[in-house]
Amino acid sequence: MSDKTIFEMIIDREIPADIVHEDDLCICFRDINPQAPIHLLVVPKKRIVRIAEASPEDQATLGHLLLTAKLVAEKEGFAKDGFRTVFNNGPNGGEEVPHLHLHVLAGRQMLWPPG
Ligand code: C5P
Repeated sequence: MSDKTIFEMIIDREIPADIVHEDDLCICFRDINPQAPIHLLVVPKKRIVRIAEASPEDQATLGHLLLTAKLVAEKEGFAKDGFRTVFNNGPNGGEEVPHLHLHVLAGRQMLWPPG
């Protein structure tokens, strides 16, 4: 059995996803279970498991994920209205897929504090 994560399978085109951006370091696609009118995931091609397991050598990749969120916000036309970026981390953080992913949510007023 493959020990790939579902996101590695998307990166390798083994399962489908609605991809909106891809470059050497990351891929961005629409979340299959959107929590807002626009819900994208920005996923590093390198399997960093979660922020708590990132290392100093991942610094450029981590920064790239945030700049990619900005890029897709501009490309998809929601940068001006605003959006939210979220990394869920571990059980209390609500993380389900053990492959780092940046949620980018937009298209409605976000609430604070989050649930
Ligand atoms: O942060 P967390 O691990 O909970 O987020 C995982 C996200 O991956 C969920 O929002 C889920 O809907 C999404 N997902 C997806 N496509 C898949 C499997 C999960 O967009 N094939």
